[in-house]
Amino acid sequence: MLKILILIAVGYFGFRLIKSAMIRHFQGLQQSMNAKAGDIEDVMIADPVCGVYFPKRSGVPLIENGKTLYFCSTECRDNYLRDKKIREEQNTRD
Ligand SMILES: [Zn+2]
Repeated sequence: MLKILILIAVGYFGFRLIKSAMIRHFQGLQQSMNAKAGDIEDVMIADPVCGVYFPKRSGVPLIENGKTLYFCSTECRDNYLRDKKIREEQNTRD
């Protein structure tokens, strides 16, 4: 009889430990997910081509020299790349 009681007690505490560990694990996941989404959502940045402000999250990214630039549309990104090419060609001509 005592063996059964010990088994039940061990099983009960074991279950509680696993449950609380899982809850902590999922809460941590949720918090890190919220922090990431919040970071991007809150940032408003200006398009370097047309100067329009837009949320970074909906921007069109372009990685240049290890830095990420964001544009309001693919059109502005393409304009930026075209202007950059023209500038580079002018520089090599001088
Ligand atoms: Zn733009």
